[in-house]
Amino acid sequence: MHPYTQALLSAIPVPDPEVELRRKRIILEGDVPSPVNPPSGCNFHPRCWKAQAICREVIPVLEEKQSNHYAACHFPG
Ligand code: SF4
Repeated sequence: MHPYTQALLSAIPVPDPEVELRRKRIILEGDVPSPVNPPSGCNFHPRCWKAQAICREVIPVLEEKQSNHYAACHFPG
């Protein structure tokens, strides 16, 4: 449900040439933030295509978003 997980899963090759041609990858842009000086709010917000103002200000907490599916994200799914 987390956008970073979605990006990782989109990078997995599919061993079917027809499916592989139609597969849509999520390419993250920007640099990996410094762990010494992490960004405010959600640490992933500088590279997240779903980021909105709240992501820069409020650290998302890990919550159950669907039955047995947890994510620390303001806009999961
Ligand atoms: S909280 Fe915002 S920036 Fe962080 S992963 Fe979710 S949508 Fe992206």
